[in-house]
Order: sequence, then C-alpha cells, then structure tokens
Amino acid sequence: MDVEIPKVSLSPQENEMDILIRARYPLIYMVSWEEARAEALLARMAQRQGKNLFFWSATRGLAEHPFPGTGNAADPIQALEQVAVSKQKALFVFKDFHPHLQDPKVIRRLRDLVTDLKSSYKTLVFLSPLLTIPLELEKDITVIDYDLPDFGEMASLVDESLAQAKGKVPFEFNADDREKIVQAALGMTLSEAENALARSIVDGPTLTVEEIKDTLLKETKQIIRKSRLLEYFEAQQAFADIGGLDLLKHWLEKRGNGFSEKARKFGLPEPKGILLMGVQGCGKSLTCKAISGLWKLPLLRLDMGSIFGQYVGQSEENMRKAIKTAESVAPCVLWLDEIEKGFSGSQSSGAVDAGTTNRIFSTFLTWLQEKQKPVFVAATANNIQQLPPELLRKGRLDEIFFIDLPTETERADIFSIHLKRKGRAPAAFNPPLLARLSNGFSGAEIEQCLVEALHNAFAENREVSQNDLETALRDTVPLSTTMAEDISAIRAWAQERARPASSSPTPNS
Ligand code: ATP
Repeated sequence: MDVEIPKVSLSPQENEMDILIRARYPLIYMVSWEEARAEALLARMAQRQGKNLFFWSATRGLAEHPFPGTGNAADPIQALEQVAVSKQKALFVFKDFHPHLQDPKVIRRLRDLVTDLKSSYKTLVFLSPLLTIPLELEKDITVIDYDLPDFGEMASLVDESLAQAKGKVPFEFNADDREKIVQAALGMTLSEAENALARSIVDGPTLTVEEIKDTLLKETKQIIRKSRLLEYFEAQQAFADIGGLDLLKHWLEKRGNGFSEKARKFGLPEPKGILLMGVQGCGKSLTCKAISGLWKLPLLRLDMGSIFGQYVGQSEENMRKAIKTAESVAPCVLWLDEIEKGFSGSQSSGAVDAGTTNRIFSTFLTWLQEKQKPVFVAATANNIQQLPPELLRKGRLDEIFFIDLPTETERADIFSIHLKRKGRAPAAFNPPLLARLSNGFSGAEIEQCLVEALHNAFAENREVSQNDLETALRDTVPLSTTMAEDISAIRAWAQERARPASSSPTPNS
C-alpha cells in the first residue's frame, strides 16, 4: 500500500513529480540549473511521501539527507549497487550524472536496475542542467523540465531583497512598482535574480524601478549571451526605415498589442509568428528587426549553425535549450534567418545526418504548435524548394508573406530612406527618376548603388550628385536579370500559398 499523501496544494510540476514517484516510475531526469531549489522540492516530496532521501555526487558519494558529511560510493557503478541492495523507501538523487550516462557499463547497470525499481518504493532521480539520454534508456527515463520560478516565488525573493535593502538605500515602492520588478525578473533563476537585485541595491545612492529593471535587463542579456545559441539584438530599426511593404506593415501594426492581457480577455489568441519569403535583399531581415522595434520586444536571433553539436543527442538538447532560453525572456521576437538552410535535410529519409535534422525540426514544430509562452517567431526563407512543407501547414504560423522586388513607388521610397540615412536630403536628388532607372533592383542593390556613388564622389573629394547615382545604377546588373527564372518560380509558388507584403502590383523585372 502506498503512503497516504496529505492534501496540500502543489505547483503543477511538483504535482507531476509526485504522481510519477507514486506510480513508481523508475528513472526520472530532472533538468534544472537551480540545484538548491530542486533539492528543496525533492526534500519536500520525500517528506510528504514518507521516504528517505539520498544525494549522490561525484565528489561526495552517496549520502543520506540531511545528514552532513561525505558518503561512500563515489564510483557510479558502486553507487547504483547500493541503490539496488537498499531496502528503504527512498528517493536517490544523482547530481550531474550526465557524463556517466555515456558509459556502457553504467547504462547496462541502470537497465538491470529498472525492473527492480519498478517493484520497489525506490526512485532514482537524475538532477542536472544538461539533458543527455542514451538511446538504450530512452524508454525508461521520464524527463521533467524544472521550470524557472513563477510569479509567487519571484515575488517572495523581491520582497526579501527589498526588506534587506531597507535602511541601506532610500526607496519607496507601491504595489504596482513591485509587480513591475517581479515581471522584469521572471525568466531568471532565483540566484540570477538575487544577484541582479543585490547589484542594484549596492549601486545606490537611490533605488528606482527603472534602475532595477535596467540591471535585470543586463542580466537577461548575459543569460542569452552565455547560452551561445541565441544572439540578443538591440532594436534599432523602425518601420520608417523600410520602403514599401504596406500590407505587411499594416498586418504587424494591427498585432502590436497582441500579447496584452486586454487582447486575451477580448478572446484573441497570442500571435504565433510569420514566415517572410521572397526575393533576396528585399527587406526580409530588415522587417524582422523592425518588428521588435515596433512592438518594443527583445529580438533574439537563433543561429541554426550553432544548434548542431558533435555528440549524439547534443543538437536536440541545444534546440530545447534555445527554446527554453527564448521562453524565459518572453515576450520576445525569435528570429530565424533563412530557416530552410537549417532545416533542409529534414525532408530526407534521415540518411543525410542520421536523422538529427529531422529530430531538431520536429522538436521545433511541436513547440511551434503547442507553445504557451509569448514568443513570436519571425522566420525568413529564400529557397522554396528546400522549405519543409510541414512548416507551412495551417496553425503553425499565423501568416506567410511574400516579399517581391520593390515597385517603382517603393524604390523611390527606398532611395529617400537611404539618402536620409547617409545624411543627405532626398530633395537634393530626384528619387522618382532614380526609381525609374532602377527597374528590377532590390532594396539591397539600391543601397549598394548609393554606397558606390558615395565612394566615387569621396575619391574625387566632392559631394555626391544625382549623376553619381545614375552612373552607379547604369553600371549595375541587378540579380533579377540573372535570376529571372528563379524569381518567376518564387512568384508562381507564392501566388497560391502566400499573402503579398505589398499592395502595389508586381513589378516587371
Ligand atoms: P537576404 O535573403 O539576402 O538575407 P533580405 O530580404 O533579408 O535578403 P535584407 O537583409 O533585409 O534582405 O536587406 C539588406 C539591406 O538592404 C537592408 O539592410 C536594407 O539596408 C536594404 N533594404 C532591403 N529592402 C529594403 C526596403 N524595403 N527598404 C529599405 N531598405 C531595404
């Protein structure tokens, strides 16, 4: 008979762990950076279920909690032997066991142990920040991602830190301020948030909500940098920096408040994401950057190249980690540039790279379909052939937009934007004429012509003129000339599957 569990309200994760242990799941893998917090949870759980608690680590061996001192069996196989012979009702928590899970002897010992554990009141828990499961144990291990602190836990930490700051530095916070601080700290571990709060308090001489939020933001950027899978972009681009693309801009502007509580109450689902596909150099990446500026959300770029790791299972773990990190910073925009490059091969039988790409892609798709956190995915693609069809299925993203070469009016706009960015008054030039002369040019090529004209003028030690620009345009053969066939193919593809980003008719190229 199982032990009677007192009825207390548990967090959903604590509840899940409780059920797994009572249902005698033999091996549980708890993924967490927060060892102390996870240990406290396991101690509560052991107490509630009337079980003894043992911790194992490579340095301290296997020792019963809370007795201090070092146990024996620092050797993993010996430690597993002790678990096997133990007659106690107990949780055995193995910390940072992941490197040993590569050892064939350890794998075999664990497989032998599984049957024994299923018919006992013993559970083995791996507690580690990294998830690496050998294929042989996949069916026996249950993974729990120990979530970062929720609002309540973070609020307690903020209250504690502020109580300690009393008398050391002057401040006055109301309930609203406190909530803002807690919100800004969400997404961090308790110790990261504690450090950031301590830093703001020590910084003095005063303490304001803005100062605390700034320090917390610095900490968030550190977290992202340390993940090495994501890159934090400061939002510098505005919609005013993009020429044309009126329909796309309008669509995005309408969803500006899409992540708000008000939108939820109104019955709106949270925006999921968009795919921007189209001709090279026409503003796909530029638009992704501008979304974060428009919505005032952090922009994180996922570098698909960094996801692929050299060890078995590492790439999948990297993908999970990147998603978790993005979620911890939510609401945010997650930018995936040239998504088809990262996922090409997922349509193959898996022979290309032993199915790794396929598994990473499914992890990503499943997350996209089920994601609960406000992470807006902004993906771009150039090559329709390599685009996995599953990505285009309804429900995965909100919309697919096609960005064509700019029309004449749009090109005039782009000239004016770039002239202004280079500190020149568009009125001193003739943007409509330049637009007429640049038929078939992409935004990137227009920018390049301007740079060329500036170089020429600079070399002759004079100001750039309309004539310099016209010469640069005449000397350039746009990609659309050499890639006419590819562009026609993209247009034909997009006509049936994507929404136009611009209301202007398709330009002739
Ligand atoms: P690629 O597929 O080659 O990455 P892309 O569509 O993502 O192309 P961007 O990187 O956004 O193109 O564009 C390159 C540069 O060209 C931009 O940084 C910007 O300076 C300029 N540009 C392109 N399109 C526009 C536009 N519509 N308005 C203003 N500038 C533009």
